Amino acid sequence: MSKGIFVVIEQRSGKVQNVGLELVGESTRLKEDLKDEVVAVLLGHEIEGQVDKLFHYGADKVILVDSPYLKEYVTEPYTKAITAIVNEYDPEIMLFGASSIGRDVAPRVASRVKTGLVADTTGLRMAKTEEEFAKEAAMGCEDPTRALLMTRPAFGGNIMATLMCPRTKPQMATVRPGVMKRIAKDTTRTGELIKFNVDFTDADMNVEILEVVKADKKAVDLTEAKLIVSGGRGIGGAQGFDLIRDVADALGAEVGSSRACVDAGWIEKDRQVGQTGKTVRPDLYMACGISGAIQHVAGMENSELVISINKNDTAPIFEVSDLGIVGDVKVILPKLADAVRKYKA
Ligand code: FAD
Repeated sequence: MSKGIFVVIEQRSGKVQNVGLELVGESTRLKEDLKDEVVAVLLGHEIEGQVDKLFHYGADKVILVDSPYLKEYVTEPYTKAITAIVNEYDPEIMLFGASSIGRDVAPRVASRVKTGLVADTTGLRMAKTEEEFAKEAAMGCEDPTRALLMTRPAFGGNIMATLMCPRTKPQMATVRPGVMKRIAKDTTRTGELIKFNVDFTDADMNVEILEVVKADKKAVDLTEAKLIVSGGRGIGGAQGFDLIRDVADALGAEVGSSRACVDAGWIEKDRQVGQTGKTVRPDLYMACGISGAIQHVAGMENSELVISINKNDTAPIFEVSDLGIVGDVKVILPKLADAVRKYKA
């Protein structure tokens, strides 16, 4: 019988990335229903030092493949190693981050082990109701109580589709970074470390890495930001972001944006929040002159506290806001920046 919720952990330069910890956290929630174990799969070279962190964030077991062939991400050796692990352990569920690495490797593994893959999911849960069990059974699922329901936006984000993969294992998904929540770190947690050997040969290394060029340090990672001040079309133009930046500076926040401003060329694409941008989960999200289209809300609705400024009191953004300010951003933002600076002084 297939067993275990496996999470493929992404590491870069030997450091575990957040998306892996988020997926381990989500797996601990799935485990409550599935009554199974959470297994983190860590690939890399000289990365054993990262193993404890995976236990601290909820993994019951870690399968470690350590090889010089895995030092940097290369499609073929990573695909080979993960495929070997699936063939050896027959996982019930296998999760990847929907990052550039996860999107590259997951479909290849799915194809080699002849299972399905639901890409870019934003919600996971085990089937629970009699109706869901009946649907799974009708589609050929042997044990519907172990069926994973995977939700993702479809048709341009206008509907959310829930998909299942009832006949083949593992049930596989890539999951958007920033959507799931990690659990609180517990440094007393430990688990079982399994060192897994894969026989690599030079023929597996079908790509030669000449140089690894790190992205500009200044590149923003909104998914990590605790405070975000975002501007929408209502700020009136590229110069409107000066007001947004001023408030963000005062608060120590990152600047975000709706897609309308990115499309208009007012700000760079890596600032875009939403379905085709970043999914964020900050402690504070300020939406300034943003209407609250479903595609924008999809990327920020899990923020802890949402404050919105909009001159239209019926703007949909107010429906997902904890605090709504009806007014003109050009008037309110400078006052807000001043007030924050005075408060901090
Ligand atoms: P608008 O909808 O034009 O809203 C501007 C708001 O500003 C209005 O509510 C207005 O009342 C208010 N306003 C105007 N002047 C002022 C003022 N002076 N003071 C205060 N308020 C003012 N959008 C995203 O953001 N992210 C995505 O990832 C994304 N992905 C998409 C994917 C698809 C497939 C599609 C079809 C669309 C996507 N969109 C996305 C676009 C989305 O549908 C909206 O068009 C977009 O979010 C609107 O941006 P906005 O709220 O800034 O602009």
